Amino acid sequence: MAQLPLPGRSLPGPGLIDEPGLTDGSPLTIGGLPAAPRDALAALMRAGFEAALVGGCVRDLLRGERPGDWDAATSAPPDAVSSLFPGSSWENRFGTVTLHGNPIVEITTFRDESGYADGRRPDEVLFHRSLHGDLARRDFTINAIAWLPDAPGSGSGLLVDPYGGIDDLRAGHIRAVGDPAARLGEDALRVLRGVRFALRFESAIDPETEHAMREAAPTTARLSGERVRDELMRLLADPAIRVADAFAHWERLGLLDVLLPELASLRGVPQEKPLPGDALDHSLRTADALPATDPLLRLAGLLHDLGKATTLEDGHFFGHEVVGADLARGLMNRLRLGIAASSRVVHLVRQHMYAYEPAWTDAAVRRFIRRIGRDALDDLFALRAADHAASGVREPQTRGMGDFRARIAAQRDAPLTAGQLAIDGHDLQHELGMSPGPGLGRVLDRLMEAVLDDPDQNRRDALLDLARKTADEW
Ligand code: ATP
Ligand code: MG
Repeated sequence: MAQLPLPGRSLPGPGLIDEPGLTDGSPLTIGGLPAAPRDALAALMRAGFEAALVGGCVRDLLRGERPGDWDAATSAPPDAVSSLFPGSSWENRFGTVTLHGNPIVEITTFRDESGYADGRRPDEVLFHRSLHGDLARRDFTINAIAWLPDAPGSGSGLLVDPYGGIDDLRAGHIRAVGDPAARLGEDALRVLRGVRFALRFESAIDPETEHAMREAAPTTARLSGERVRDELMRLLADPAIRVADAFAHWERLGLLDVLLPELASLRGVPQEKPLPGDALDHSLRTADALPATDPLLRLAGLLHDLGKATTLEDGHFFGHEVVGADLARGLMNRLRLGIAASSRVVHLVRQHMYAYEPAWTDAAVRRFIRRIGRDALDDLFALRAADHAASGVREPQTRGMGDFRARIAAQRDAPLTAGQLAIDGHDLQHELGMSPGPGLGRVLDRLMEAVLDDPDQNRRDALLDLARKTADEW
């Protein structure tokens, strides 16, 4: 009987897919099955339902990797699942019940047209029909493999692989379950998922599936922003995937024009850079030069030059960071990225053209920090480094950059925001008799400017003096 140890993420094992003869119906023991999925399956079985591990987790186990999330399929209807697991949450659309342990387990009732979900104990034949029916509705053969435990709590069980997923995993084939045109026509997100799996598993897309992906590409326009966002972020967050390769697929299949036209219009925009290629090539290289551990920063790299599509004049892209920031905001609104994430990226796009000069005064350095925000400095410098790497440019001011960072560090304690001033609006009201309103705000701005010029001015007496003078002048 095959034995499957669970190596840690840092130790990707050879997996079992190279073992000859492992196929539909093979017994398979999973050593070290985590308690969360094991107990979930056991509880369902003890309550008289059938339950199996399915999808991505079985695929990852066979590859010798520790799955990130665990999916189970069961004959139990969602309300029965939900009442078996107190504290679980039930998402109505797909009838998926999520157990919020560690790791997370998602339990889905068999999706089977023949419709067995009324909670009766199914007979063996009906059950197997239901599990097969469930697998038939999954996207790719490598995601349509199940593992059926022998008994509640047991680590031994059987593989159920009616569509040859194990063979495809072994051979490196991405193949839709059943009729590719029908599968991809049902849910266009599968086109994006197929690309991601092809890259992640260094697999070839089966020609018929590829054809169906192309045909379905225009229908991805109807996908919700959230689903496209999640798929895009999964691409950017996968260290095994080169962004440039992913978007080469998106372009070839006709996805880029449909989903990210702003990025597609960088194709053919000329660049005067040591490295060859157009503005799209440059953007992809920039994203790849940023870490997959920070997918949003990678997104900023991908979008940083969006404004170049419309701003080229006399060999310069005047104001492309302003135009680009607007385009990036629109794109991220469409993909429902959320205010916090979107603001972070827009800010980086907007500010990426800064130019430091060693002749800057310390006050100029302080104003730079204030404009960028202390929290965004590392991001901005990482983006600049990636931008240069992706241009093949040796930073002309490499020495200057080290100097710049040292000068920024030296301003660690400098007051940069109104909240850090030695006096506030209440002081202006009490000491100067000012009333709240825009006038008071302008005085505070004036004080802030003075303190940016000279941090030694950040004393109560000096600021009150200056405030009096300012108020008198006005
Ligand atoms: P990942 O490792 O990125 O999580 P995954 O294949 O596990 O990949 P999930 O989104 O976790 O992806 O989905 C779990 C399983 O659910 C898949 O393996 C597949 O069987 C099924 N599935 C998910 N999305 C779809 C879809 N859009 N169409 C059909 N089946 C899907
Ligand atoms: Mg998964």
